[in-house]
Amino acid sequence: MANEANKLMTGEPPETFYAATAVPSAPRQRLMQDIDTGVCIVGGGFAGLWTARAFARRGYDVAVLEAGTVAGQASGRNGGLVSAGYAARLSRIVERVGLEQAKALYALSRQGMDIVGAALAEGIPGVDPVPGRLNVQRFDDLEGARRQADFHGEHFGHEMLLWPTERVRETLKTERYYQALHDADAFSVHPLNLALALAAEIEARGGRIFEQTRATGADLEGVRKWIETPNGRVRSQDVVFCGSAFIGAGFPMLARAILPVSTYMCATEPIPEKLQENIRYTGAVADTRRAGDYYRAAGDRLLWGGRISTRAGTPRRLKKKLARDIARVYPALKGVGIEYAWSGVMGYAIHSMPQIGMLRPGAWVASGFGGHGLNTTAMAGELISTAIIDHDERWRQFIPFGLVWAGGALGRRTTQFVYWGMKAGDKYDEAKSKFKEYRAKRAAAAEAARKIAEAKAAEEADARKKAEAAERRKAEQEELARLLAHEEEQEKKRKEDVTRAAADTKDAAKATDAAPKKPDTETEDKVANGAKGAPAKKKKKS
Ligand SMILES: Cc1cc2nc3c(=O)[nH]c(=O)nc-3n(C[C@H](O)[C@H](O)[C@H](O)COP(=O)(O)OP(=O)(O)OC[C@H]3O[C@@H](n4cnc5c(N)ncnc54)[C@H](O)[C@@H]3O)c2cc1C
Repeated sequence: MANEANKLMTGEPPETFYAATAVPSAPRQRLMQDIDTGVCIVGGGFAGLWTARAFARRGYDVAVLEAGTVAGQASGRNGGLVSAGYAARLSRIVERVGLEQAKALYALSRQGMDIVGAALAEGIPGVDPVPGRLNVQRFDDLEGARRQADFHGEHFGHEMLLWPTERVRETLKTERYYQALHDADAFSVHPLNLALALAAEIEARGGRIFEQTRATGADLEGVRKWIETPNGRVRSQDVVFCGSAFIGAGFPMLARAILPVSTYMCATEPIPEKLQENIRYTGAVADTRRAGDYYRAAGDRLLWGGRISTRAGTPRRLKKKLARDIARVYPALKGVGIEYAWSGVMGYAIHSMPQIGMLRPGAWVASGFGGHGLNTTAMAGELISTAIIDHDERWRQFIPFGLVWAGGALGRRTTQFVYWGMKAGDKYDEAKSKFKEYRAKRAAAAEAARKIAEAKAAEEADARKKAEAAERRKAEQEELARLLAHEEEQEKKRKEDVTRAAADTKDAAKATDAAPKKPDTETEDKVANGAKGAPAKKKKKS
């Protein structure tokens, strides 16, 4: 822990996935003597590097002072997502400066993306740009998503495609998400390799970069500015402060205007199949919560970021915490191993907009890019370099977002409270959507159960009817069989009676033949009355 905190203070790269996959880059020297330069840049993150590159490309002599290593802070540890806009929500910007100026600011943020895109087009090793960003909602609001898409399209010329919940859930195997806006213009990069390429280009064009060289103070009064470092001074025509949250006590006005906010990232172990099954989108995904999750696949690993805090350093059990966050969204990824986990510090101004502008003639600031610096730092470098070289005044659009005191320790505590408040708000929205969904699911389940019960009852009634009919048929057949048997019995008896009567008649006839000739009237009568069928015949015969 202490080790990690020290690393944060010195800017030494932590054990990040990016550091592990960085292109080879030799350490740079400290400044050990006084030097002269055209433009001195304080800070070797994206803001300092894009600014220095812009000057170097115009043939200016630049020197970059970096307290740690190039892109050792936020710039080399971030999500790598390059997209339009700012850390401040667009609606807040409109509120503050009006629609027309908001449009101009948004267009500038898109120019920042174009600068990054153009640099990538020149071919940078190990940056691996991947297009696309999906902004997913964790609450159900189709109309709200549609309004957002229309707002961006109509006023800011940025078309985003609305994905309904079904499409989102087919693509991302989680029930946490509802609708999404697809931003096809956005893209993701390996940020550290991009920063290292910028540094290499600055040096190739004759610029100087000193690492482990902290600017500790400055004299900005004269035409020539003097920047102090522990082992040498820099004398320059212009100076640009790009130190973000780490600028230090030597520059109290800048330090007071910035609020350091930590956020966290991790890289899983390689999980090719699980990634393919659960995250069927190759671009970056970010949820729309105030402090939401952001992630993307990097090869066969998942790079996941989220959470914010005003506490410095890497929290204990960070890997476990982030693994839990992942599993909460993707239950199927529960138990996936986390190979790297790290923290990074973003510099926020109280208004969440970048601080870009002139402090006094020859002294400039480019800071406060918050969680949205990959496009805006490139834009800031362009605005400041063209302001100094060409007297371009576009930077003035940022005057409404000046250096406002960020509140010091109290500001930090307030931010933490605000963050907790925002989290509670996010949770409420989510819970409401989940409850609605739960109620709808329960109603659907009850309806399905009712239908199943009805079908079962109908089936049972049918089976009962069939059984009764079979029973009836069986009884009828038995009755028929019984009647037939009875009939047969009767027939048999009849036949026996006839046979017996015939036999009796025969016997009687025999007896008559054997008797004396005198007619025995008694016997004759007996025969005439007792024998069935034959008597008349017998009588006739006799
Ligand atoms: C985890 C994480 C994820 C993020 N994800 C994204 C994302 O996906 N997309 C996006 O757009 N943005 C993202 N961001 C924000 C983005 O990284 C920053 O906005 C951007 O890198 C800011 O660049 P910077 O140069 O202003 O600051 P930094 O990168 O902090 O650089 C400032 C540099 O100045 C040096 N310095 C400070 N003071 C002095 C001094 N006195 N003397 C000499 N050197 C000094 C520091 O050592 C440091 O290297 C993320 C940030 C973090 C931490």
